[in-house]
Amino acid sequence: MNTTTVTGPPYQCTPREVAEDLGTDPDLGLTSDEAAARLARHGPNVLPEARRRGPVARFLLQFHNPLIYVLLVSAVITTALGDHVDAAVILGVVVANAIVGFVQEARAERALAALAAMTRTVTTAVRDGRPARLPSEELVRGDLVLLEAGDRIPADLRLVRAADLSVDESALTGESAPVAKTPDALGEAALADRRNMAHSGTFVTYGRGAGLVTATGAGTEIGLVHRLVGSATAVQTPLTRKIARFSRVVTVAILALAALTFAVGVLRGRPVPEMLTAAVALAVGAIPEGLPAVVTITLAFGVARMVRRNAIVRRLPAVETLGSTTVICTDKTGTLTRNQMTVTGIAAGGRLFEVTGTGYAPRGEILAGGGRVEAAAHPALRECLMAGLACNDARITQGGDGGGWSLVGDPTEGALVVSAAKAGLGEAPERLDTITFSSERQYMATLHAGGVIYAKGSLERILAMSDRQLAADGGTEPLDVEGITAVAHAYGGQALRVLALARADADPAADHLTEPPPRLVFLGLQAMHDPPREEAARAVHACRTAGIQVKMITGDHAATARAVGARIGLDGEVMTGADLAATADGDLPGAVERTAVFARVSPEQKLRLVRALQARSHVIAMTGDGVNDAPALKQADIGVAMGRDGTEVAKESADMVLTDDDFASIEAAVEEGRGVFDNLVKFIVWALPANIGLGLVLVAAILGGGELPILPVQVLWLNMTAVLVLGLPFAVEPRDEDIMRRPPRDPALPLITRRLTARILLVAAILLAGAFGLFHWEQAHGASLAEARTVVVNVFAMTLLAYLFNCLSLEHPMLWHGVRRNPWVGAGALALIAIQVFYTYVPVMHDLFRSAPLSPGAWARVAAVAAIAYALVELAKWATRRTERA
Ligand code: ADP
Ligand code: MG
Repeated sequence: MNTTTVTGPPYQCTPREVAEDLGTDPDLGLTSDEAAARLARHGPNVLPEARRRGPVARFLLQFHNPLIYVLLVSAVITTALGDHVDAAVILGVVVANAIVGFVQEARAERALAALAAMTRTVTTAVRDGRPARLPSEELVRGDLVLLEAGDRIPADLRLVRAADLSVDESALTGESAPVAKTPDALGEAALADRRNMAHSGTFVTYGRGAGLVTATGAGTEIGLVHRLVGSATAVQTPLTRKIARFSRVVTVAILALAALTFAVGVLRGRPVPEMLTAAVALAVGAIPEGLPAVVTITLAFGVARMVRRNAIVRRLPAVETLGSTTVICTDKTGTLTRNQMTVTGIAAGGRLFEVTGTGYAPRGEILAGGGRVEAAAHPALRECLMAGLACNDARITQGGDGGGWSLVGDPTEGALVVSAAKAGLGEAPERLDTITFSSERQYMATLHAGGVIYAKGSLERILAMSDRQLAADGGTEPLDVEGITAVAHAYGGQALRVLALARADADPAADHLTEPPPRLVFLGLQAMHDPPREEAARAVHACRTAGIQVKMITGDHAATARAVGARIGLDGEVMTGADLAATADGDLPGAVERTAVFARVSPEQKLRLVRALQARSHVIAMTGDGVNDAPALKQADIGVAMGRDGTEVAKESADMVLTDDDFASIEAAVEEGRGVFDNLVKFIVWALPANIGLGLVLVAAILGGGELPILPVQVLWLNMTAVLVLGLPFAVEPRDEDIMRRPPRDPALPLITRRLTARILLVAAILLAGAFGLFHWEQAHGASLAEARTVVVNVFAMTLLAYLFNCLSLEHPMLWHGVRRNPWVGAGALALIAIQVFYTYVPVMHDLFRSAPLSPGAWARVAAVAAIAYALVELAKWATRRTERA
């Protein structure tokens, strides 16, 4: 297929020539057999992945860590000193550590790769003569791709059709103004001037078109310049970066401290090997080397949980920001409501009609005053329905099994197809030209054979373009603006979405529409029901309780917006787009803060709303689905795109994509975001006292003289067992029951507040006193050095265990409840006790780690230290609760 039979690149050839060259048909595309064969031959339409390091390199990188260097050096030194056992233990621990790090990293990467797979784009291509939705990576050269506003162009295309098509090529050319496209052949042209090509990675901002795939994957222009667009694989977030920086600073500080204590000890005349051992123990014990990995893992677990609740996070930092969200701005149609439209009322020719039936099945009747009416007998009704049918891009189809009816296209338009079908209206006259609907334009118009124009749109827009109305008898009469508006408001008050319909006569020879269309004759209104989502009211309420404001932003009419809002718990004054336009920038933040429902808002105004709220230091999640929502989605702290009905542009601009388009999923994601944050804080508060405590014990011993209370290999043992076994439950800790009854976390606050810092220091002090005190007390009461050191190791292990229960809730008392709600807590506790019994009593351990069996009395003293730590921390929590309540 790569042999060129015509001269010149595709843009210099006609669509026919290009099709011939590609062995395809410009109207029917490829057959699925041919496409499958080409896919097998030339491979998928993907950009080459950035080169990944191989597993060996990734494993070796685990050793690239200052702490590991310290350990390796100490292993060499201990070998030189003739202590082969210690050296072997140290090496064993280093390798085990590398394996753990390697596995953790692989898990986090797998979670992120799964995310990338979920955010892949889909495309409409013609296969076997019919449009089909398929993953963009299945496209092959010769495929005929259909484009519409909001699509991301999936491969390089030679356009064969273009209607008002314009494309944002900034990703490729840097030029931000959209480029108008045509299918005509060109002469020699630079990339930016190839107006008959649509290039992979750029976006359709307007109009429709179709093109043949001329290049895929690495063969595309964007593949050639090798710029990857929108890849979401960075594992770093502001938080992980902060923690990594914290770890680095602490590491350097501890290494300096170790060097200092070494120097002091040697200057005081203590033996060099002993001081070296002490310095190594200090470095190993006090450096929180596992922290960055745990943070990344916890975030990755949070992301996985969010996916299960229908929220796909495209950028990891969003996980953190979600927990601090103070305002959620949401669309109405489709997010708070189901976007399943059914026309229930029609006003035409001065009469009101009811429409029965539900869903998209064309079964139902048109009633007036309780009796069935024939559309043929009511010219105004008939024309109103015909306008809805003709000025329409949706279709309804009867599905295979069960015979259920489903919709292809926009639900608002689908409802109009159904109402026309219920009245028995058949085909609309052939369409010659279209002015497409957009939220800014608020209407759509079509030109039909025989010289008739139909239009439909918002009440205000259609009324403004009309000067007469169709009377009941089919003649025209003056426009009754007040009467029509009153009817529309009554419909709106019942939470119905109102579409106004109109027509105009055109020159029978005309074949295209000009904007604006000629003066229209108003035909009537169709009012449609769109049921609120079941979960919406509950989720709105849950957000309120969690201190999060919910604001509904819609292009719909104020009366409809108010009524829908009232049904889901959003009350108060409604601000319209016109009100917003009339409000000065300075007054806007206050006004926006007070309002929960915004109607007839244009996408540009969404951006202004976000900025106004950000001026009040709000953290904003904002939903959007259209091309023009992209700037607001980018500006918002969390841009949320709709996975089902959203455009590719919106998804690319968003931080999060909802797979079910449901508002309740945003609330769920916030809940998960808060949970992730909570678990991180809990883990850090739990883990740091051990590092500080070990550091203090060793510094005290070195400065105070005498034997070391804990040896380097014993410190390594604690790092390998207690910290790992007990740290694990935090990653799977369930959310606190009251997590959505608290106010949002203030992003300006530090991760670890002053109160929590005090708690960390308290526990570190207990560890110091308990370990150091018992080390001397045991020896004074006849214990051997090995026994005393075993007591110290067990003081650390058991106190960390007791303190784990404290940390399962940072505010509330916690013991059995913590075991019941997270099975890993109980499992971890039992595992740790078993491990420590093993450590204390098994002879191998006596050789490897210099442990020794303990008496029951010694165990009782160890348990006492742990119990005291538990009780004091609970006391501190209680005091905090009291002062906070006061
Ligand atoms: P939203 O999605 O927030 O409900 P839209 O911007 O889609 O708002 O719609 C605004 C108004 O435009 C609607 O109230 C309706 O009157 C009109 N409208 C909506 N969809 C169409 C369409 N496909 N064709 C013509 N008019 C439409
Ligand atoms: Mg809409």
